[in-house]
Amino acid sequence: MARVEAEVQNHYNSSLVERLRKSGGELTIENTTVRLAKQFGFCYGVERAIDLAYATRRVFPDNNIYLIGEIIHNQEVNQHLSSMGIVSLPWKELTDDYNKIGPDDVVIVPAFGAPTHFMEKIEAQGATVIDTTCGDVMKVWRRVRNYAKDGVTSVIHGKAGHEETKATASRALGDQKNGHYVVILTLKDCHDLCEMIVNGTDQATFEARFPNAYSTGFDTTKHLQMIGVANQTTMLKSETEEIQKLLKEAIIKRDNDDHNYLMFDTICGATQERQDALFEMLNKKMDLMLVVGGYNSSNTTHLVEISEEHLPAFFIRTAECLKNIEEIAHFDLQQKEEVLSKNGGILLSEEPIVVGITAGASCPSNLIHDTITRVFELRGVSSDHPELKQ
Ligand code: SF4
Repeated sequence: MARVEAEVQNHYNSSLVERLRKSGGELTIENTTVRLAKQFGFCYGVERAIDLAYATRRVFPDNNIYLIGEIIHNQEVNQHLSSMGIVSLPWKELTDDYNKIGPDDVVIVPAFGAPTHFMEKIEAQGATVIDTTCGDVMKVWRRVRNYAKDGVTSVIHGKAGHEETKATASRALGDQKNGHYVVILTLKDCHDLCEMIVNGTDQATFEARFPNAYSTGFDTTKHLQMIGVANQTTMLKSETEEIQKLLKEAIIKRDNDDHNYLMFDTICGATQERQDALFEMLNKKMDLMLVVGGYNSSNTTHLVEISEEHLPAFFIRTAECLKNIEEIAHFDLQQKEEVLSKNGGILLSEEPIVVGITAGASCPSNLIHDTITRVFELRGVSSDHPELKQ
């Protein structure tokens, strides 16, 4: 593992970023300041998953190695694993691809985990499983399994189509596979579910309102009686707290007490630290915010949502998104696609400017490094400047 860790560091680390991290996170050259959040980038769960994937290749140099979906939500990292001969399998459905796996093959489970029926299939095929599921995700699984054991329906705050939430939902069925769950994402989802808890609902209305987001056999006359809340580890803390409060109030309104309500905050430490560091950073004046990460990364998306409330903020995948001094290619959270926008002349300004940079838990430091040097380059500072040297 030590050799592999060194290899991973070599691929994804940046001494510039580490130097900045240790010296307060700010670098000013001429009239441009780049400010980094106190916590950003790779989390412990992601680092471990990547290390294990690299180690798998070393330990099994001649075997077929498959990966369920993506190891993490970062295109560059996934492409690198692909170049090492690690083949990504579909993760949304258990397709025929899984039938070709044999006892000599190795299957890597990503940091988000995988649904139980995927795990059962791989084990039935006799393959070696390298499970990189993050411990914080497993904590959520333990919680929803216990809910199922006690006859409590899990209300999962997350994205029904996200790898982690699909994996969690499968555990909410419990060991006997007779548990139940419903997944909600927005406050509107929560308000509608609360209304159903308080006033009751017919089955068809519930099913139409939460398509593909509830367990098979969910019966609204039984399974909204006792609920336990859990959340995808990477949700926005303030929104999860609001959802917990609304659901508790709904139960109290219906029952006059909260005996039928359970809650367990399952946002992971790394997500929390990155959100807290961003809030702290936003207390200081900045002109522009760049949030670096994979466009399908949930925790990165929330960093963008927080930033957008305070200043012009752009969700970029790599430094290449900073096309020129005026235009930025970025992921638009409303349109759900990459668009090209002007940055409002901020980078053109001859006045001193401060550009904030943060990154999601799946973003390697080398991409942050490239973003820092690109900002300075657009502001007329060469990447050969001594302060920008690795
Ligand atoms: S974001 Fe949290 S849950 Fe996900 S891998 Fe990192 S530490 Fe684990």
